Amino acid sequence: MHQFLPYAWFQGTCVPFEEARISIATHALHYGTGAFGGMRAIPDPASANTMLLFRADRHARRLSQSARLLLTELREEEILAALTAMLQANKPEQPIYLRPFVYTSDLGIAPRLHEIETDFLIYGLPLGDYLSPEGVSCRISSWTRQEDRSLPLRGKISGAYITSSLAKTEAVKSGFDEALLLNSRGKVSEASGMNLFLVRDGALVTPGVDQDILEGITRASVIELAITMGLRVIERPVDKTELFIADEVFLTGTAAKITPIRQIESTTLNTHRPVMDELKRRLVAITEGRDPDFEHWVTRISV
Ligand code: PMP
Repeated sequence: MHQFLPYAWFQGTCVPFEEARISIATHALHYGTGAFGGMRAIPDPASANTMLLFRADRHARRLSQSARLLLTELREEEILAALTAMLQANKPEQPIYLRPFVYTSDLGIAPRLHEIETDFLIYGLPLGDYLSPEGVSCRISSWTRQEDRSLPLRGKISGAYITSSLAKTEAVKSGFDEALLLNSRGKVSEASGMNLFLVRDGALVTPGVDQDILEGITRASVIELAITMGLRVIERPVDKTELFIADEVFLTGTAAKITPIRQIESTTLNTHRPVMDELKRRLVAITEGRDPDFEHWVTRISV
């Protein structure tokens, strides 16, 4: 049984979750012509009736850009105002995940993005750990990550998640927790809903933005944080073989936070992960509003 926050944002206002209903003929349901966001909000450990949103501005910007890729307009301020209204209506008392979604809300057929109505909604749900913080096993997917020339990969476009879904289920059904996808050039791209990092000889390595990845906000944050910690960060194509010999391998994402990979295919990886551990410790402190150097990454909302 899913448990959702009692109020959703729907058609420009907050309504009880059960009343936010759409038709079976909704265009986006059939064609995947939507784009979504995903962000976490947590109660401020230091102050009552306050929710902390991690990098709300970046999430709003990415969703606004995703909307533009679907040829519709959704302003960042509009997204932030709706998120605030949602939080104030729900007054959550536990960590939650917010799912904003912009989509072709018109009814009827014909895949297109012109002459079509769009709408914007948000719902939320309590969310603890999405992946085991102890580490996950991954298989190299038989599905290839899509290419930017056939799909705008810089947006979180709903239709793109067919590949993530196939890859995740293939991995789980064959006994693994998560899937790693190679891109069409045979380089490591990302997991079904997370970016990937390696540590090799003390440097942090991650596939660059030209490797058909989603430009993850956690990824960007980890890179920036690592640089301030004096680590060398290298964005470059990553070969499959490197996964097996890296000193540390981990995933990043809003849902996954920082999750270590403990096994890839039949190879057990190193469990001594000093670089990841330190990045994780710092990131948790930042998201909980406890790091004065990164105050600007946290938005406080009174609820
Ligand atoms: N890749 C994909 C395909 C994703 O869906 C996500 C989750 N949004 C990520 C990477 C990680 O992005 P972020 O850190 O912004 O959550």
